[in-house]
Amino acid sequence: MYKTKAYSASSATSPLASATIPRRDPTERDVQIEILYCGICHSDLHSVRNEWSEFMATNYPIVPGHEIVGRVTKVGSAVSKYKPGDLAAVGCLVDSDRTCPQCKAGMENFCPNMTLTFNSPDKHKTAPVTYGGYSASIVVDEHFVLRVPSNLNLAGTAPLLCAGITTYSPMRHWNVTEGKKVGVVGLGGLGHMGVKFARAFGAHVVVFTTSPGKTQDAMRLGAHEVVMSRNADEMKKHAGSFDFILDTVSAGHDIDPLINLLRIDGNLTLVGAPPKPLAVSAFGLIVGRRSLSGSNIGGIAETQEMLDFCGRHNITADVEVIPIQKVNEAYERLLKSDVKYRFCIDMASLKSE
Ligand code: NAP
Ligand code: ZN
Repeated sequence: MYKTKAYSASSATSPLASATIPRRDPTERDVQIEILYCGICHSDLHSVRNEWSEFMATNYPIVPGHEIVGRVTKVGSAVSKYKPGDLAAVGCLVDSDRTCPQCKAGMENFCPNMTLTFNSPDKHKTAPVTYGGYSASIVVDEHFVLRVPSNLNLAGTAPLLCAGITTYSPMRHWNVTEGKKVGVVGLGGLGHMGVKFARAFGAHVVVFTTSPGKTQDAMRLGAHEVVMSRNADEMKKHAGSFDFILDTVSAGHDIDPLINLLRIDGNLTLVGAPPKPLAVSAFGLIVGRRSLSGSNIGGIAETQEMLDFCGRHNITADVEVIPIQKVNEAYERLLKSDVKYRFCIDMASLKSE
């Protein structure tokens, strides 16, 4: 076991602050990574503040962070895919049971025994729970480590590990392709990646936002049209026309007006995870055999596929790189939908702690 620097919160009402955490010495299948960048996902904030207590209570102290890019510093004797000096990435998962039907099908993200990168029981007993990427170093089983395309900017790559795969996966599943009309609701970290992928897949892309100030950025990011979701007249113009809508909103909101925009057999997928239940009118779904579904990150193979796709198409997140000392301020800005479009922590800033 060794010690590494991190930022952690000790309760739902405490700010994140400098801490020292234990990491296991790499076992034969492990990769040890020096973390260079870690994106800030709204899920970090939900977890730090225990907003998902009914579904996934937070264990304190918590070290959040699951959008990790870094450099390999050490590998175990059985590791074959990585060597010291390589770039490597880690997303939301660091382990799973590997025996269930989902794991066998490459969908570790639906394994009932998966280990999340933070706040999951630590099978190695290094600490009571796993600690995430707001730290200087992490040790992860080779199977859950991803290769980073060499042409991509590293800070912009980190958010692909959650915001990227969470939007890529449902768009692939629901067959977002050329000629489809696709909506992306909420232009934050997930939303702006959703826009980039929908555009890259050839769809006609419409952004639904509550922030009038984001219109130009939405178009620059790849949207063909931008709709103010709180303007009923603007919404009505698109009634019954969408093949697919991806809802990335982090807070409570009305989804019936969005469901009404779907065409017959259209689908609305929720990836945003507001802490409280959303109300749904049966009529919106019945009329037009529309469907409402959800999606949770993606499996390891699909995450690698997404990274390779990003390498080929030169896709990264638009990041605001911050030192870790600004993380609490960044959380407050997230709550005001004031992020362009993902905060990413430059982990070199942790060295001065
Ligand atoms: P984010 O950067 O804060 O973006 C959320 C966006 O939602 C905001 O920028 C805002 O966009 C919109 N919004 C916020 N409050 C709203 C409200 N009251 N009504 C309508 N729109 C509102 O968050 P994120 O990191 O993209 O994460 C989004 C959600 O996805 C979070 O709940 C997160 O936990 C969840 N998540 C789920 C998965 C998964 O696997 N399913 C993975 C990662 C994250 P506008 O300004 O454009 O309106
Ligand atoms: Zn996330």
